[in-house]
Amino acid sequence: MSAFDDLKARDEQSICNTYGRYPLAIDRAQGCHVWDLDGKRYLDLVAGIAVCSLGHSRPELLEVITRQYAKLVHVSNLFYQREQSELAERLLATSHAGKVFFCNSGAEANEAAIKLARRFMRTVRGREAYEILTLSGSFHGRTLATVTATGQEKFRQYFEPLPGGFTTVPKGDLEAMRAAMGPQTAAVLVEVVQGEGGVRPLDGDYLRAVQALCRERDVLFMIDEVQTGMCRTGRFWAHQHHGLTPDVFTVAKPLAGGLPMGAMFATDEAARGLTPGTHATTFGGGALLCAVAAKVVDIMLDEDLAGRAEAMGAYARELFAGIAARNPGAIAEVRGLGLMLAVDLGRPAADVWRALLDRGFICNLTQETALRLVPPLVITREDLDAFAAALEDILRARP
Ligand SMILES: *Cc1c(COP(=O)(O)O)cnc(C)c1O
Repeated sequence: MSAFDDLKARDEQSICNTYGRYPLAIDRAQGCHVWDLDGKRYLDLVAGIAVCSLGHSRPELLEVITRQYAKLVHVSNLFYQREQSELAERLLATSHAGKVFFCNSGAEANEAAIKLARRFMRTVRGREAYEILTLSGSFHGRTLATVTATGQEKFRQYFEPLPGGFTTVPKGDLEAMRAAMGPQTAAVLVEVVQGEGGVRPLDGDYLRAVQALCRERDVLFMIDEVQTGMCRTGRFWAHQHHGLTPDVFTVAKPLAGGLPMGAMFATDEAARGLTPGTHATTFGGGALLCAVAAKVVDIMLDEDLAGRAEAMGAYARELFAGIAARNPGAIAEVRGLGLMLAVDLGRPAADVWRALLDRGFICNLTQETALRLVPPLVITREDLDAFAAALEDILRARP
């Protein structure tokens, strides 16, 4: 039995069967590469699902983790912690938001946003408004509330009864949004690029119109940047591409360089919705996580990773456009923003995904037909060249 087969058998014996895993076990990771149990190297174009934006095993983060672990890890939010304020100030300096709430995941950040919206309407506005409008094709997490907010039926099935007060509206349809909005509506929650929905950017004019409609109706405009946030799309926040100023937005995946952390941002006005004792988390904003995340922010700004994501995303698109031109019909569409890309083959792509894996390239198959690429933002041109060459080779050899 190979080391991989042995591990697979142990996994199946002991771990809840909730994941369709790739036929691969990762032993170690460095930069943009990971190694399997046999020492085979792979270029990692998934980066822990858009998490490891700085690449794997950054020495700067190791240094912070070691130093902060020795000093202070966790004492709870009963206390003031310098690391938390220092991280908050850094993050708030990147946006128009005035306040931040730290938590532990994307779903939790969205839960905080949903709770804030309902409480804001009742306690600040004095209105019985509770409904959250979300879009078809969206993804907002796996807790009962966020899975209900998620506009994809497959994630909700058999979990009924679901919490009330969520309505899915067809994306891109402003009239449908206008019609859905009533006196009961507290907030609209959208993504700038639908990640789990197949890397589908929403139109900037549409998003601005939804924001304007929210302002007109005094409904909170909230953006889920759990995946798009922190340089991934070519701006520090994806909503900055379109000049949006959401009342609330959330982030998680890239925040703490691979450690679990989420955050909800709110304008000073929207933040009035939460007061002492109304929302909390035991682990959220611990000193160790905050120190690491502060370093992540510093590196992102020092190395201009937003600019890099934009440049490398444009470079990758050029490569894919070349493949499409030389191989008519092989690629149906390339879509995305910055280094959040999908190469849609327009037909089932599992064989291409598998052939790439065999050649040492890890990407993520989404919606059956699309290869999703969310690599570390420090990926090089040479890495992208190698991936594009392998992809073209595989597409050429395809029946
Ligand atoms: C991943 C993701 C979530 C859920 O984040 P978790 O940390 O897995 O709870 C929510 N929204 C979006 C847009 C995501 O990509």
